[in-house]
Amino acid sequence: MSRYKYVLLDMDGVLWRGGEPIHVNVEAVKILASRGVGVAYVTNNSTRSRRSYVERLKALGLPASASTIVTSGYAASIYMRLRGVSTAYVVGEEGLFEEVGLAGIEPLDTCPGKADAVVVGLDRGFNYGKLDCAARHVRRGALYVATNTDSTLPHPGEPKPGAGAMVAAISVAAGRNPDFTAGKPNPWLVELALEALGAEPGEVLLVGDRLDTDVEAGRRAGVDTLLVFTGVTAPGSSLDPEPTHTARSLMDALHLFG
Ligand SMILES: [Mg+2]
Repeated sequence: MSRYKYVLLDMDGVLWRGGEPIHVNVEAVKILASRGVGVAYVTNNSTRSRRSYVERLKALGLPASASTIVTSGYAASIYMRLRGVSTAYVVGEEGLFEEVGLAGIEPLDTCPGKADAVVVGLDRGFNYGKLDCAARHVRRGALYVATNTDSTLPHPGEPKPGAGAMVAAISVAAGRNPDFTAGKPNPWLVELALEALGAEPGEVLLVGDRLDTDVEAGRRAGVDTLLVFTGVTAPGSSLDPEPTHTARSLMDALHLFG
């Protein structure tokens, strides 16, 4: 039975763990691409731009172009553009500033003046001044956008605080929650990727390693999911929400594709 024409790949825990490639999945993606399966990528990580992911994917020999990579920073920027935002106060790293600028929005990193929006991603240089400034803009009525609300990042040894920790601090100080969150488990990243591929939801298999983000985002977008056990989910865990398919790795699931 041949089914899916496209594969949508989460990256961390699927293609690599930290800096280390997960070769079994990388090789499976190469096989799928050689068979004509369309490939796109979705990630909640906003610290890198699509341009920087193109380089990283190409270094692994994977097919990649900026148009088939959807990061939460890019997705948040597209959302702001659709909402008519022209200036945004940015709490985040270089990749987020780059995507905001590429969307035609002026990224602000200083407090005076008015910002149409505040966009918040993981910022390893987050501090009291940024918190104060972001909260002020939100209280004054700026559109409040989170790239994602992940509480932690997978990290060898102990997990590190994720973007959600910064969003929580700003929400408490500003007295309200984000108007929009771009990242998984919301379906926005998946919807942008479907649009980039020109694919219908039924033609696509989303491959990820997390239930609460990847599988839930697929469910909300009406896209089937494959949970692989190469990342944070251990075999034998209870599966809620339930993925459409599970496999040790993508290599064990090649038969699902046409
Ligand atoms: Mg992952």
